Amino acid sequence: MATLKFSLQNGWLLGKVAVITGGARGIGAATAKLFSDNGAHVVIADILDDLGTVVADSIKGRYTHCDVSKESDVENAIDIAVKWKGRLDIMFNNAGISGPEGSITNLNMDQMMTLVAINLNGVVHGIKHAARVMIQGKKGGSIICSSSSAAIMGGLASHAYTLSKEAILGVARSTACELGVHGIRVNCVSPHGVPSEMLVGGFRRILGRDDLQAEDVSRMVGERGSLLRGREPSVYDVARGVLFLASEEAGFISGHNLVIDGGYTSGCSQMS
Ligand code: NAD
Repeated sequence: MATLKFSLQNGWLLGKVAVITGGARGIGAATAKLFSDNGAHVVIADILDDLGTVVADSIKGRYTHCDVSKESDVENAIDIAVKWKGRLDIMFNNAGISGPEGSITNLNMDQMMTLVAINLNGVVHGIKHAARVMIQGKKGGSIICSSSSAAIMGGLASHAYTLSKEAILGVARSTACELGVHGIRVNCVSPHGVPSEMLVGGFRRILGRDDLQAEDVSRMVGERGSLLRGREPSVYDVARGVLFLASEEAGFISGHNLVIDGGYTSGCSQMS
């Protein structure tokens, strides 16, 4: 994984309490670090217990085992935050998986529904229970959901992934409409090409190249996968966008999709 380290350290989230699903690695772990550097208390909710515990310990946060496809697990993660610090200000619905790749003619519906249960239902569980405690808390809040460039461009890789990410944009917009009256903002980020475990695994399967490393994927995106030639993407590029949306700096932004893609979705015709 790219190791570009960057922390804004503006104290944007001083005293705020956040839950990050899928925070054990990748974009979620980078966001946990930025949140913590900016003064937030963070609960990491993931299925990778060892990695998640290391990340949580490194930022003096909390870790809880949470499979986002199970509503009770997500509810429990949020309740842990509230019991710990008495409030919830930020919910980052970030957990997600890729696949199954391949033709629509071979789509395995069971595999598709497994992906939807994590990528889409997991986000809905997070919005639902974060909204519940934020409404009770009467202090507003910021909910951020991980969509994808695939929701904008479509994606040859996985139809199931594309539909899950586009549906996230829809549910974020509709809940932003409902929750604005409570001072709760709901936004999305749509990353592209960040060489996480998920993306590298997808590249390996699609290209049939088990030898591919994060550096290879990073270089491929830097060379052809964005408009910013030679600028390789990092998990912190996305984490900084999430930090902004979580903070009061974005206090008048709701129902928005922040695309973090090096211009990819604006200029695909120039990619070849
Ligand atoms: P990653 O694989 O490094 O991180 C995903 C995290 O989600 C992992 O910690 C994983 O354990 C966790 N997770 C998976 N299934 C879970 C479950 N059922 N319950 C709880 N946690 C679970 O990948 P990433 O790239 O950091 O992905 C983070 C989010 O960003 C995902 O939603 C992904 O779809 C989205 N995204 C990433 C890219 C990219 O370029 N990497 C592009 C578009 C969207």
